[in-house]
Amino acid sequence: MTQLAPRINGIPVPRMAPESVEYWAGTRVGELRYQRCTACSAPNFGPGLVCRSCRSRDLEWVAGAGRGVVYSWTVVWRPQTPAFEVPYAPAIVRLDEGYDLLTALVGLDHLEIAEGLRVAVEFHAISDEITLPFFRPDPSAWSGAAAG
Ligand SMILES: [Zn+2]
Repeated sequence: MTQLAPRINGIPVPRMAPESVEYWAGTRVGELRYQRCTACSAPNFGPGLVCRSCRSRDLEWVAGAGRGVVYSWTVVWRPQTPAFEVPYAPAIVRLDEGYDLLTALVGLDHLEIAEGLRVAVEFHAISDEITLPFFRPDPSAWSGAAAG
């Protein structure tokens, strides 16, 4: 059993687009922020100028709870750059707020990953500007106090 760990040293740093400045400002302070449409209430992620559901421009930034379930994942054994120590597990997490986030799973063995596993966010800085969200098994889900 090998616990997957966040890869934070020397990995490629995402470039901050103008639409995502608020997202990255959130991760730096431990918040998973996303856009929500004030016209139709749909989450809008990744961030943009118009709602994907109704084309409204009335979008607001809100902070989510940082909890969700594993929707899909892969386990990487042959990384594209040596900075990624293997194995690591990129994943799509479906947030409780109703949108999907590409992330990586940590804090468990790759064989323990399962569809629908409850996970919670944790943050790790990889540069002065960029802090990445990772997800690990949600301890509150283990105690029977499952969210949502
Ligand atoms: Zn909308």
